[in-house]
Amino acid sequence: MAKRDYYEVLGVSKTADEKEIKSAFRRLAKKYHPDLNKDKDAPEKFKEVQEAYEVLSDPNKRQTYDKYGHAAFDQNGDTSGFGGFSGGFSNFGFDDIDLSDILSGVFGGGFNFGGSSSRRTSNRAQKGKDTLYQIRLSFMEAVYGCNKDITLDVYEKCDECNGKGGHKEETCSRCHGSGTVTEEQRTMFGSFVSKTTCPECKGKGKVYKEVCMECKGKGKIKKRKTLSVTVPAGVDTGQQIRIKEKGEAGINGGPNGDVYVEFYVEEHQVFKREGNDIYMELPINVVEATLGCRKDVPLMRESVVLNIPEGTQNGDKHRLKGKGVPYVNSSRVGDLYIVIKVVIPTKLDRKQRELFNELSKTNLDDNSDFINRFKKFFKK
Ligand SMILES: [Zn+2]
Ligand SMILES: [Zn+2]
Repeated sequence: MAKRDYYEVLGVSKTADEKEIKSAFRRLAKKYHPDLNKDKDAPEKFKEVQEAYEVLSDPNKRQTYDKYGHAAFDQNGDTSGFGGFSGGFSNFGFDDIDLSDILSGVFGGGFNFGGSSSRRTSNRAQKGKDTLYQIRLSFMEAVYGCNKDITLDVYEKCDECNGKGGHKEETCSRCHGSGTVTEEQRTMFGSFVSKTTCPECKGKGKVYKEVCMECKGKGKIKKRKTLSVTVPAGVDTGQQIRIKEKGEAGINGGPNGDVYVEFYVEEHQVFKREGNDIYMELPINVVEATLGCRKDVPLMRESVVLNIPEGTQNGDKHRLKGKGVPYVNSSRVGDLYIVIKVVIPTKLDRKQRELFNELSKTNLDDNSDFINRFKKFFKK
């Protein structure tokens, strides 16, 4: 079978410019793409169109073709000698572009083969929007982890139209499926051709005869859903966890967005958190501090007996290793500090007052380094 002239294949004149060639290719590639055209000679036609485009879109190859015809490329008399076409589907030398990318390049406005422009096409698969949800946790829920049900409204794919927004799909008559329209503007400097997104189909290249009643053409519907969230032990205010692909529906078959759950942890009356350590104050009276004592101290989930030595000062700390907050997703646990707060009595009965008076006749200052230093300084 004699090979058809490349210009004839694309249906353009010998003087056609780049843009005409591109748009002819786009139209024909769509017409004959084997995924869309089930005619038995469609794959052959598609290949022919691709081959013609490969040559005519490249100024060097086109020049050679104009001079020597098919003979310049095809020494064996068939297309298998031509680099890139033997596989039946050429990916134009871009190994990282898959079929879906090429299809969206063909149908959308992007036409990204040159690699320089990366205009987004509106029918490319896109991940759905992420959703942020904030939850309040009590101090203990955050320390030990918990399960929470959260209810959120997210857009999900409309089942009625399978996310398309309509029924009875047709190629857009305004842009012939390309998703873009070309406008020519004449000015005193000459005429300019600009490409804009097709206003008819909003760049999709497809229109629907019937708008989906269920979603009013949006392809997605707001639905209330409940997610069960496992809050890991040790989370803190401002931290987030991600629940993968439970958010808004993707576009054009893209994956769902994610749900981010952000925590706000309430304060506790007794326990204060600093990272993964916990601080608590333990009030003792002046006699307990002076003579030492043993105290039952209730912690978060257990209690300990604390030995408070003689001569304990206000602010002294006792560290209980591993009794703090777990690190998220780890076996490490922070520490708990008991901070001694010596409470000076504010109301004394007569007997107590007598005892303090008695005490004041003795020298209580002798052993204090701090008082000695203080006295030394002011005696100078
Ligand atoms: Zn719908
Ligand atoms: Zn259109």
